[in-house]
Amino acid sequence: MVDYYARIDDEETNPGFVLLTKKPYYSSYEKAVREIVTLENTKKILGSYNAYYRGYKNCRGLIGATASIAWSSENDNTYELIAYRKEQKWGSKRFVDNDSTKKMDKQCHSTFDNYDYKHKHNRIIPNSPCPVLFGIRGTDEEELINAKSLIISEEIDCWLIFETNQGTDEHLQKTTINKIQPYQSVIVDGRVVKVPFTVEGGHVFFTIKDSSGEIDCAAYEPTKNFRKIIRELNLGDKVEVYGGVRKDPLTINLEKINIKYLEKQVEKVENPICPKCDKHMKSKGINQGYRCNKCGTKSDKPIFKEIKRNINTGLYEVPVCARRHLSKPIKRIG
Ligand SMILES: [Zn+2]
Repeated sequence: MVDYYARIDDEETNPGFVLLTKKPYYSSYEKAVREIVTLENTKKILGSYNAYYRGYKNCRGLIGATASIAWSSENDNTYELIAYRKEQKWGSKRFVDNDSTKKMDKQCHSTFDNYDYKHKHNRIIPNSPCPVLFGIRGTDEEELINAKSLIISEEIDCWLIFETNQGTDEHLQKTTINKIQPYQSVIVDGRVVKVPFTVEGGHVFFTIKDSSGEIDCAAYEPTKNFRKIIRELNLGDKVEVYGGVRKDPLTINLEKINIKYLEKQVEKVENPICPKCDKHMKSKGINQGYRCNKCGTKSDKPIFKEIKRNINTGLYEVPVCARRHLSKPIKRIG
């Protein structure tokens, strides 16, 4: 079947299949979803379980195939109903009606990541020229079948419901900054020590720190409005960031952020007033404090005003159009 159907000519296609009579340890899935697994290591596992398997081209498909058998839904799981296209339609433009997708999204509360209203992006339609017509993700199998019936589209050839780890955050591990490795996906606490700035292309960067070290965080341009929240962060704010770690330079690519505490931000509004003369003191120069011209009283405390913050504490996520498959939507957390 793989020989017949796989698009071996596609550069990105490296399939593999694995048949096992016994599940490998759950930890082999955990390592694959959170860190880096080598093909060598996967082949060792397959050998020790007497697996029947075959890999094609660079054979990396074996890694995912093995990890998915090792997965179990014991911690969390979701479902995806996948509807397939008629074979003669493969590769051509898909017809899936947006209005019916929005209607389904509003009616079927256990589904998620269907439609990005702000960016008008229908997320149930794949980007690749694969045989999938659409995929609806949710937590209730029964409701997925109802959701499918609400979608107006070209003819569906057949459909299937998969049990999945999508929308579970199982790729993330809680850690400290000094332990972060490239390509991991992490949850880490810190205080903002470098204020957010925007670079050409619209990507926003800032730096957080915990007792073990410092790391840069990024909200890239495709995360759209999420960047508005990020730009409001300021020195001293306490956050918990969620995201994948890019290697060079070491940066957390934000998927979610929990803003736990907003530091009071103040600005100087005027020079201090002399308690004796009731007049404003004069500045003696940068960081030199203030002095009353009349009586000579000194002070180093100007009058401050608290700046109103434009964000609130709480959990924020990237929009549906920028969401990674594994990211747990706030809808599922709340
Ligand atoms: Zn005075």
